[in-house]
Amino acid sequence: MSQVIKKVLIANRGEIALRIVRACAEANIRSVAVYTEPDRYGLFVKRANEAYSLGSDPLTGYLDPTRIVNLAVETGCDAIHPGYGFLSENPELARLCAEKGVTFIGPSAEVIRRMGDKTQARLAMTEAGVPVTPGSPGNLDDIEQALAEASRIGYPVMVKATSGGGGRGIRRCDNEEELRKQFPRVISEATKAFGSAEVFMEKCIVNPKHIEVQILADRHGNVIHLYERDCSIQRRNQKLIEIAPSPQISDELRHRLGKLAVKAARAVGYESAGTVEFLLVNEDVYFMEMNTRIQVEHTITEQITGIDIVQEQLRIAAGAPLNFSQETVSFRGYAMQLRINAEDPKNDFLPSFGRITHYYAPGGPGVRVDTAIYTGYEIPPFYDSMCLKLIVWALDWESLLARAQRAIDDMRLHGIRTTANYYQQILQHPDFRSREFDTSFVANHPELSRYSDKKHPSDVALALAAAIAAYAGISN
Ligand code: ADP
Ligand code: ADP
Ligand code: MG
Repeated sequence: MSQVIKKVLIANRGEIALRIVRACAEANIRSVAVYTEPDRYGLFVKRANEAYSLGSDPLTGYLDPTRIVNLAVETGCDAIHPGYGFLSENPELARLCAEKGVTFIGPSAEVIRRMGDKTQARLAMTEAGVPVTPGSPGNLDDIEQALAEASRIGYPVMVKATSGGGGRGIRRCDNEEELRKQFPRVISEATKAFGSAEVFMEKCIVNPKHIEVQILADRHGNVIHLYERDCSIQRRNQKLIEIAPSPQISDELRHRLGKLAVKAARAVGYESAGTVEFLLVNEDVYFMEMNTRIQVEHTITEQITGIDIVQEQLRIAAGAPLNFSQETVSFRGYAMQLRINAEDPKNDFLPSFGRITHYYAPGGPGVRVDTAIYTGYEIPPFYDSMCLKLIVWALDWESLLARAQRAIDDMRLHGIRTTANYYQQILQHPDFRSREFDTSFVANHPELSRYSDKKHPSDVALALAAAIAAYAGISN
């Protein structure tokens, strides 16, 4: 039943493309990168065994399923890995793969379609007996229906894009007036960002924790969970810092969540790696959505369980049974991922793209860096601002905090502004340190982005050297 995957086309860019190249290399699988011209100098292009251009437009090539599947066939690839973002949750890529006899590394087109539609997903979960956030039974036709639903559910409510992702197309409304104002805005955002005007409504869970469960499912009916991640540190519904396991839930709740996630995956006939996201308030759990792909923060689950999730995806796609049973999966210590974004925290997190003049990676015990940047690399302005994932692991929470601070101090990233020093402020905050935080933490602490930059003596030396070199007309 099991087939052999020999060559994989990676339909993505940046750090996740490189992450997949690495998994392929260890599994003795050839990797093929595809890139648009602004990414010509990307590290994933250099590191893949082969690379092909998708043309000069920064985006259209990455978003064209027909072109990508045809290229996979032409270059002799037997499988496609979609990474996250781009086409990863586009059922058309999975469908075309099936049609052309290329293995799609992910669940079926049908499951992607169903779970990518948040109202369909909510329906499927309700049927399966998984508690969902209270909300409208389906999509909202117009503002009248929205107002009626809101008075039934009770304010505050969230208006959300049905096909949304990446934290966009979500707005909180505290009363009727706000709902009238925000409703058309979400529709317009949804249309622009996701090509669909469909929106629905959920009760706004006030100050919840975002807890998600990583699952793995094979073709033979085995479904297991790899415990949870706490992604409550968010800014505008986008994750900044993730932690595994959650430092603020009980073992009892941990097991309850794991079981619910497995139930959710089983109910829809899931295959491959996936994530079930929940909102948590007190001990109440609500299903929010399922992401049918590898997630940005899969890394921290790998650090605590020792399981290479991308390699598991490759094995599952080849038809192999899971390497583990629920009883043989365990976790140890804590891991934290800091999403280092090319943004200026002191200027409302304005994107800060440009040339990386100097980059020295952090290292030492328990430190992992997933990135595709290097000294001299110019970050193109067309994509996500996340430029580096700093991942740390330690045996206990206090050591983890110390290690995260030390790892940020270790790192030098010059030429652009980043969120690294902002994270130092979060790491020092008493509420964060005492494991008491929820999704309102970042918004409630605007003062944390008004820190003063302390210069490292070595940075001053670097700047001085650069000035002298420039003065002397030495180019580097
Ligand atoms: P994760 O759920 O893995 O934490 P994010 O929500 O941060 O991931 O999204 C990862 C990337 O995928 C981001 O670049 C985001 O913009 C993109 N993305 C996620 N979902 C969608 C979607 N439905 N449509 C378009 N882009 C998406
Ligand atoms: P996306 O597909 O963009 O990831 P999600 O539905 O996962 O969207 O929501 C993203 C974030 O928005 C959540 O992690 C949470 O912080 C917030 N959020 C979403 N729905 C609700 C809700 N009903 N109540 C409170 N917060 C919510
Ligand atoms: Mg989400």
